[in-house]
Amino acid sequence: MTGKRSLVLITVDCLRADHCGFYGYSRPTTPFLDALASESFVVPAAIVAGAPTYYSFPAILASRMPLALGRDVVGLAPGESTLATVLRESGHATGAFSAGNPYISQRFGYDQGFEVFRDFLDFKAHTTQNTVGAETPSSDSARGQLNRSIEGLAGALGLGRVYNELYFQYCMKIAPAAESVDALRRFPSAGILVDQAQSWLASVGQRPFFLWLHLMDPHSPYYPSNEAYRELAGRDIEPGRARYLNEYWNRSDLAPSALSGKRDEVVQLYDAGIRSVDRQIARLVDSLRQSHLWDDCVFALTADHGEEFLEHGGRYHSPVRLSEEIVRVPLLIRVPGERGAKVPASPMSHLHLAPTLLEVMGVQSPSAFQGRSLWKNLQRGIAWDDPAIADPEIVGPEIACPEIACPEIVGPAIIECAYGCTNPFRAESRSASRLLAVRDARFKLVMRIEPGAIEEVYDLEADPAETRPSTDGPALETRKRLLQAAYEHMEKTVSARDPVMRLRARLRDLRCEIFG
Ligand SMILES: [Zn+2]
Repeated sequence: MTGKRSLVLITVDCLRADHCGFYGYSRPTTPFLDALASESFVVPAAIVAGAPTYYSFPAILASRMPLALGRDVVGLAPGESTLATVLRESGHATGAFSAGNPYISQRFGYDQGFEVFRDFLDFKAHTTQNTVGAETPSSDSARGQLNRSIEGLAGALGLGRVYNELYFQYCMKIAPAAESVDALRRFPSAGILVDQAQSWLASVGQRPFFLWLHLMDPHSPYYPSNEAYRELAGRDIEPGRARYLNEYWNRSDLAPSALSGKRDEVVQLYDAGIRSVDRQIARLVDSLRQSHLWDDCVFALTADHGEEFLEHGGRYHSPVRLSEEIVRVPLLIRVPGERGAKVPASPMSHLHLAPTLLEVMGVQSPSAFQGRSLWKNLQRGIAWDDPAIADPEIVGPEIACPEIACPEIVGPAIIECAYGCTNPFRAESRSASRLLAVRDARFKLVMRIEPGAIEEVYDLEADPAETRPSTDGPALETRKRLLQAAYEHMEKTVSARDPVMRLRARLRDLRCEIFG
């Protein structure tokens, strides 16, 4: 070995922190990670910098706020420094295996710095009959003229709901039988990615490496491996039932009250997707142990955002509200030779993840990174959102003294995205108004940046379900403090914008729009 550490970064799409065992979830979704957590740093409040995928990853890989280059720029700019580019320069072999998410593909600059980059965009399940969505009432594409006439007539007679229900049931009835849950899956499973990663690791030899895996098993449509489902539910999953649940859950003609009857079964499928991921991470780590690579391996696991199951009436992860089920994700960091420590409850933005990992690796962060390394805070269990940590009388000279590795103080976590942007390939979708949240240890401010918009402030201690924006008394001081942080963020966004990076990204986007 060269003496340098290696890094395995695993990002799991749609993984909520509160559905992981090591965050206290009641179902055994993550037995392997629970055991690993006991020797790791587990951040209680890891907060994404944006949601969904395309607004989250610039912070994870490049320590940059998602809208810092402008609302119309999505992804990484050509030439932007990332974990991969920095580690490749420092002599690491770099490989990425991403389970078919187009928003973190080469098109958006995520291959930069990787010697091997596989995004599985060409993945096909065993059969093309992996959805009947095109024929459900939520879509017009396969509807014949007669159907539309009947639907119109039913609507005129006030029978629209009856029509939709009958039409849905009809579509489910005529759908070809699914041979297995595997055949219904839209994205390659974690098992396929781990196989590829293991082959790549075998080719790396003795070089230190950076391996990034992005796993999609908990992403909708929810088709987990049968083994994982059986481990959680105690029985096999019937493919027809799994498809029925997914199609039902996807219906746009139903109100949350009608969907809620299927919620528990859908969550069970989602949870089994997490269990699938846990099983495959266990397999990967086991092979690293067997090849004696684990002892020099830093391991980090997080998610790009969470998932909604009607908590606020929504499903999936559209960027229309930044509630905790979307913005709070797991973050587990295992460092060889460190036993882990109790991590403060201060919110830790993903912005600080890449600099923190680089310090753990002994590699200098590029100056373009917007986040700071919180490694010393993590090691010593010192909060990073409390100005008192700089006061030697409170924490003692050893901690406060800048010459002896001073811990960092950073402000509240900022989350931003373009409101309602569900298709960043379309310019008009990604140019919607900015949705911004400021999250500190107890409060969260959420607002749209547009004329006349009023901010909402939630007290996460008194109201963890975020049902009542607070408006009275003591909230005024809090509101002022959080608004000040929002203001400073917006001001910095404009003043610190890198025009060269922005132009490079715009040119890349225009080339893609011209050539497809
Ligand atoms: Zn995602």
